[in-house]
Formats: sequence, structure tokens, C-alpha cells
Amino acid sequence: MSYEMNIRKVVPYTPGEQPAGKVIKLNTNECPYPPSPRVMEAIRATGEEELRKYPDPDCKALISAIASYYRLSEDQVFVGVGSDDVLSMCFLTYFAGDKPILFPDITYSFYDVWAEVYRIPYKRIPLKEDFSVDAEDYRVENGGIVLANPNAPTGIFTGLEDIERILSASPDSVVIVDEAYIDFGGESALTLLPRYENLVVTRTMSKSRALAGLRVGYAFGSPKLIKYLSDVRFSVNSYTMNSPALRAGVAAIEDHDYFCEIRDKVVATRDRAERELRELGFSFQKSSTNFIFAEHKECPAEEIFQKLKEKNIYVRYFRKPRIDNYLRISIGTEEEMDRLFEALREILSDR
Ligand SMILES: *Cc1c(COP(=O)(O)O)cnc(C)c1O
Repeated sequence: MSYEMNIRKVVPYTPGEQPAGKVIKLNTNECPYPPSPRVMEAIRATGEEELRKYPDPDCKALISAIASYYRLSEDQVFVGVGSDDVLSMCFLTYFAGDKPILFPDITYSFYDVWAEVYRIPYKRIPLKEDFSVDAEDYRVENGGIVLANPNAPTGIFTGLEDIERILSASPDSVVIVDEAYIDFGGESALTLLPRYENLVVTRTMSKSRALAGLRVGYAFGSPKLIKYLSDVRFSVNSYTMNSPALRAGVAAIEDHDYFCEIRDKVVATRDRAERELRELGFSFQKSSTNFIFAEHKECPAEEIFQKLKEKNIYVRYFRKPRIDNYLRISIGTEEEMDRLFEALREILSDR
């Protein structure tokens, strides 16, 4: 079977489970509330004619809505099929050099998968003992840098002074700041865009805008960097964004009041969940996201994970160095969280 040697072989990313049936799903950081009613209207308003024809390859309406919402110019905005697509295009575009790109040892587990599939050399920089980022560690030769901020799965936000230190220490590299969770806490690096032409910020509608199923992500950067990204996209697939997603994305970004309402509810539930989990004996750092990354002093994480699953409550467990005693618990509705606390009380008192 000599064709084997010509095949690109990869170890794929493992997404969180999407179990069928009625379960409490706190394992993939989805929003527990529905998207804006205007999103549903926009999808229903997509006519036959629009489905018959190809979508707008330039995604003009969506780019324009996003640009005006963030007060940027249209040539500073890129859109894609969720931020996974946006990030994948960024890796392909910006990391074409020979020097290793850098990202933390504990971070979004898709980064090393893209590096592998695109044959990009990379180096993992260990987070400090408390899972914080030390900006000084990034002051080394590199072909690019990727930081999720707030980080996943730790939930920790790195201050903009540190992001700035990293940007200014590597003026010859593109630095990607993945802000999938920024709406839940911390400060966006968007304000640094005018001063750092090597900065690219990525965002998603999956978490804070309740649209994980629609697949809409976007990126901000200088017109020059956005042009390079766009050229690569048009060299891979001109029609990444489908017509209903283009329409619904506009509706989602324009319904600012609804966005604030569901985000504030998630943040309030998170703050309450932090108090409840501490009382149950969990320890964790302050979360700036829509999940809590927690460890229990007496009970192994894997055991809690399994027992919760038996009770139809799904959280995320990573069997990986340094974090194999942690659970990543997404913030659900108040009722879902009550069911979780109840289940945890049972599991912990049964031991
Ligand atoms: C969820 C997530 C993404 C991807 O989100 P999409 O659904 O593809 O937009 C990217 N980065 C991080 C850190 C995430 O947690």
C-alpha cells in the first residue's frame, strides 16, 4: 500500500460530546439561552432565490455590520465559519515561516492540531504554577504567537499590559489574541489595534451570542493583515459563509440589548456558581469566562466527571498533564446549575 506515504496523517482535535436526548449539558461552553429572536426572523427571511444562488463571496453586509458595531473600517474585519475557521485561516496565512510559533502549554487544544496539520513548527510555553501567563517567557525568537485571552480552559484573563509587552517584544511576528470569551470578562486587545500592526484579534458568536450552531466567527487586524487573510481564504474556498448565516450574523450583532441581557444573566449565574462551588469544597481562580475551571481537594476530577455523567450532567474533563484533576464546568441556566450543585452534594457526601 504505497499510497500511504503520500497521505497527510493527523491526530484530530476532539470536540466535546454532543449527547442526544435530554441531558444537562455543561461541557462545551454554549450559551444556555436562545439567540436573539431577530436571528430566527433573519433565517426565516432567507428566500428560495437566495438559496438557489451562491452567497455574497465578500460577505459585505455582515462585515459592514460588524465594522460599524466595533467602530472599525470594513477593511479591518474578516469573517469565517466560526472562529475555528478564522483561526485555521490565520495559522495558514500568518505562520508560514520556519521559526516555531509559541502558545501556552495549557490552552485551546486546537492550536497544536492546526500547527501539525499545516506543518508549522511550534513550542509550548508553560504557564506559571498558578496558570497565569508570564509575558517575559515570550521574549524569544518565534514565528508567531497565539494567546487565548481569557484563556481556555483556565478561564484566566491576562492584563493588556502583558499583551502589550508580548506584542512589542515580537514586532516581526503576528500575534493572535483569541477573544472567544472576552464578552464575559477582561478587556479587549481591540484598543491596541491602532498601535500594533502585528496584532490580530479573533472573536466568535458561538458563546456570548448563543450561535454555536450557526458558525459565525470574525477577526480584526490592520487592513494589510486582513487582506493577506482574505487572499488565503479565496484560495481555499470563496464561499465559506452561507446565506442564512450571513443574514443571521447581522441580526445578532445588531441586537445589542438582547446580547447584554443574556451575557449579564450568564455572568450573574457564574458569580453565584463560584460561591456555591467553593462551599462544596472546590477551588479555582476567578473566572473571566462562561465556565469555571475547578479542582476538588478530596475527590478526583475524573470520578466526579463520571458520576455526573451517570446523572446525565455533562461537564468537560481533560486527561492531560497538569490539568487532569480539573473539571471545566460551563455556566448553564440557574435551574441547570441548581441541579448540578444538588448532584455534586450527593456525589461528595456518598464517599
Ligand atoms: C469555542 C472556542 C473557539 C471556537 O469557537 P467557534 O465556535 O469555532 O467560533 C475558539 N477559541 C476558543 C478559545 C474557544 O473556546
